[in-house]
Amino acid sequence: MARYLAFDIGGTKIATGFVTLEPGASPRVEDVHTVPTEAVRGGNDVLQRIVALAAARIGESDDIAAVGIGSAGVVDPDTGAIVSSTDLMPDWAGQPLGAAVAAATGLPVAVVNDVVAHGLGEAVHGAGRGYARVLSVGVGTGIGGALIEDGCAVPGAHGVAGHIGHIAHGLGQGVRCSCGTRCGHVEPIASGTGIGTLYNLKKPAGAPPASDGKAVAELVAAGDPYATQILAMSARALGEALGGAANLLDPDAIVISGSVVRSGDVWWHALREGFADGAMALTAPTPLLDGRLGGDAPLVGAAVDASRRTDHACSPVHNCP
Ligand SMILES: [Zn+2]
Repeated sequence: MARYLAFDIGGTKIATGFVTLEPGASPRVEDVHTVPTEAVRGGNDVLQRIVALAAARIGESDDIAAVGIGSAGVVDPDTGAIVSSTDLMPDWAGQPLGAAVAAATGLPVAVVNDVVAHGLGEAVHGAGRGYARVLSVGVGTGIGGALIEDGCAVPGAHGVAGHIGHIAHGLGQGVRCSCGTRCGHVEPIASGTGIGTLYNLKKPAGAPPASDGKAVAELVAAGDPYATQILAMSARALGEALGGAANLLDPDAIVISGSVVRSGDVWWHALREGFADGAMALTAPTPLLDGRLGGDAPLVGAAVDASRRTDHACSPVHNCP
């Protein structure tokens, strides 16, 4: 058994908690605190507050083996520094996150991308438990993903493997993606933000605009036929994209998490229909699973990553290279 201090650092909030990993048992997540990131104050300011938070939280417990951090941005896994980040976190790129937290706590620190941390959590201890190769997909404000093999994230040549939101779908043509392209990516029409965008592009003249996917899902629940059509169109596109991903990667299971999976039966039904149409005969039976760990997933995944990289034999992934 080993206990970790885990961080989930996103563009709007920073969550911390203690995660206990024990062979054969479900992870225990305790004392989770959340504070606003206040990213507009800049990367230096965010880092200083994280360092202070880590030092304070370590003082609450005397049996912490290591610190595991899932953070927004592309991470250098060797140094724990942030290699690049989006406009959501100005000046976050270049911050020596791992080294700064290690200096403040005196503990080993492992840093991994937040979407990868989420995927590790779900793959190793959540809905993907028991499957060797898991494609984890997060559908929220954006669409992210990670491919986890035998409890290890597959990083790719540039550390960007798993960016499932940035694969092509014709429905997105002309709609600007967060990566900058208008060539037709799936994220700008299938994320929570994207469902709102698609509704506003196709809604009847005179109908009030929808702010996001949640607003569209509420219209669907109220029986609005246009909103129902748009939500299904969006989910079907994502399903088709996932079918293509299944053909390319052939995972044992696909775990889908994030706020949009709460959009109801219309969304899930259309997603499964699109997947069935896009997947080849041998990949079509791949299970599409609802994530199980909710907001705990990135904390659990960050602890799993720390466990593996600090070589404690309390995780099924500790032998990964
Ligand atoms: Zn894109």
